[in-house]
Amino acid sequence: MECPYCKKEMREGFIPATQYRVRWIAGSPKGYWGNLDDREQVWLSELPLLTYKTAEAFYCPDCKTVIIPVKEFQDNFDKLGDKVDEIGKKFAGAFDRFTASREEKDARREAEKRERELEKRQENIKKGKDPWEL
Ligand SMILES: [Zn+2]
Repeated sequence: MECPYCKKEMREGFIPATQYRVRWIAGSPKGYWGNLDDREQVWLSELPLLTYKTAEAFYCPDCKTVIIPVKEFQDNFDKLGDKVDEIGKKFAGAFDRFTASREEKDARREAEKRERELEKRQENIKKGKDPWEL
């Protein structure tokens, strides 16, 4: 990008958004404590959710000026929704596998219990005791 002041080529770079979206807010910063009230704002980056986002920025070292082109961002709350669905499906899959392995364990434990009971009854028969007495 050409610097609009000195017409020299500007340096490419970015402004990181690691916690909040980078944005421009209209008016004076006086009285601003994170409250937007009715202030106009322009998003310069997407919302960093699972990873950082960036605002593309150009710097002119001669004019000490940074220019940030404003882009149209798809609100990434939609993307967050997709991510949550994806994680939900993965979790549901893991839960099903966990449940299946648990049911398998319960079934095995039940079979072992019955086997032990059968052995005990056979022992009782050998000893001349009531086979149903455990
Ligand atoms: Zn310049």
